[in-house]
This record gives sequence, C-alpha cells and structure tokens, in this order.
Amino acid sequence: TATLLEVTDLHKTFTVRRGFPRTETVHVKALAGISFSISEGEAFGLVGESGCGKSTAGRALLRLIEPDGGEVLYRGENFLTAPGQRLRQLRQKLQIVFQDPFASLNPRRTVGQTLAEPMQVHKLGSREAIEARVAAVLDEVGLPRTAIEKYPHEFSGGQRQRIGIARALVLEPELIVADEPVSALDVSIQAQILLLLDGLKVRRGLSFLFISHDLGVVRHFCKRVAVMYLGRIVEDGPTEQIFDEPLHPYTRALRDASPVPDPRAKVTMARLEGEVASAINPPTGCHFHPRCPHAMDRCRVEYPKLRAVAPGRRVACHLHDQAA
Ligand code: SF4
Ligand code: MG
Repeated sequence: TATLLEVTDLHKTFTVRRGFPRTETVHVKALAGISFSISEGEAFGLVGESGCGKSTAGRALLRLIEPDGGEVLYRGENFLTAPGQRLRQLRQKLQIVFQDPFASLNPRRTVGQTLAEPMQVHKLGSREAIEARVAAVLDEVGLPRTAIEKYPHEFSGGQRQRIGIARALVLEPELIVADEPVSALDVSIQAQILLLLDGLKVRRGLSFLFISHDLGVVRHFCKRVAVMYLGRIVEDGPTEQIFDEPLHPYTRALRDASPVPDPRAKVTMARLEGEVASAINPPTGCHFHPRCPHAMDRCRVEYPKLRAVAPGRRVACHLHDQAA
C-alpha cells in the first residue's frame, strides 16, 4: 500500500519560565527528532508515559503547534512548508480527535453549529449540502438527528466523543490523529468508541495516528506501533512483535507494568522502576539509562541510534547494536 504520511526528523523545543520569585528560562526538548510513516488505511500507534512527547508529536505534525524543524510529507507534499491556500486544502485531509471531548467542544454552540463550522470555514457546499453532510456524519457516529439542536452539556462523555469524531469526519479526512481518544471514558464506553473507530478504519479506509498510554487499547487498534521516551522513538515495528518480543528494555518494562487484561491470569507484574526523567535536563547518553537494568558504561555517554534490526523493526539500544 502507498505511504500516506511520512514524518522525518520532527523537532520541537518549548521555552518555559519556571521558579518563583526568581524565574529562569529553560528549554524543554519535547521532540528530539522523530521519524515514522503511515500507510493508507493503517493505524499507527504512538505509546509512552505522559510527558514523552507523543501528544506534541501529533500536534506538531498537524501544525497546531509549529515544529522547529523536520518534514511532514502528505502524499509526497510537504505539509510544513505549504503556503496558506494549499495548507487549508491539506488541512481538510488531516483531522484530530482529542482526549477530552468536553474541553474541545464550544459549550455555547449547538452540535449542528459545531459540525457545520469546518465546512463553512473551508467554504464547502451550499446550506443544503452542509445540512445533508451533518446528518450523514451523525448517522455514521451513531447519534440521533435530534442532536443537531442540542448543546454539548446535554450529552454523556461517550456521546460527546462521538460528536468529536463526527466533527473530524465532516471534511472527509484521510488521516485522523486520535490523541488518547478513549482515556477519559469508562471502560464499557471505551469499547463502544473503539468499535466505532474500528468501523471507520474498515469502511472508510481511514488512517490513524493513535496516541495512547494504554498498551491494551493500542494492541487492539494498531497494526504498527512506536514507543517514545523523552522526545525520541526508542523502538517501533509490528504491534504483535513489539509487545510479544520487545527488544528495548523500556518497552519491556512498559509492557510488564501495564495492567493484565485478564484478572484471573497469574502474572507477576514487574514494576517500572524510577521516575520518568525530565525532558528539561535529560540524562546523558541513553536517556533511559538511570532506569535500565542492563545499563553499561557506554550507555551513560553515547545515545544509541535508532536502527533497523529486522525488516520493519527498529530499536535504539546498545544491546542490539550488533543485531543488524
Ligand atoms: Fe539500557 Fe543501554 Fe539499551 Fe539504554 S542503551 S536501554 S541503558 S541497555
Ligand atoms: Mg498527552
């Protein structure tokens, strides 16, 4: 299948002021150069603990925050340098669904207004065409037509996320960045929303960048996955392989620390030791070395390159330098 999105060496550093009463300016390297690609119709997962840069990656590639450098090719065309008019056209094709649908919906707008707005902004279609499209996406996400006249507070969390998904669909996108789309929902509701997203993937052939800290959800939804740690990808490859035979010690720890899906299963959970180090002042060498049970002298001074170790699999760890 054809490549839909190709992200190369994406960088973002935030400058923040901290401290009181004396403040200092510090630089947070949220993205230290990440690269990945997503094929047509593919769901690609981005996982890692909070603060690893996965949400920044999703926002930076959509230019909701401007990245400092790198390249984002959408069907071969550079999204980051596209001029105004062309950028607006490309934006239709790349949409986002947020974690907290309530925060991302305007409380003073009816669902109908919220869903019509993207089409009005992009000057797409007559009033009748917009109304028809709004009705069609409501059907598609399983909301009644009567939702058009209602406000976000009149809906449950799961229904609000359906509204968020409907809003992402009105412009007929090809790729959706889903940033923790079910993390704020009850487990029973999570399953329904995942089922809805699965249906869109199959019926529409939609591609996803699926951002989540929940490995169970990613395992269910994504064909390939990248694991991030402190602004970098430390391992990526086919989802099954990454979780069944992780190569990077961080991936293994993350997997072993995640809740066991079957409560009857007798599995001793290894703890993920230590704090996530800070992106403000990341450890030297391999950023994971203070928490890594296999750390060697070399790990403290030399950052391991992300390299291919098998077809479709990359890992950044000195333990696997020889593997290729
Ligand atoms: Fe551990 Fe060294 Fe591999 Fe980093 S490079 S994960 S410290 S073994
Ligand atoms: Mg996040």
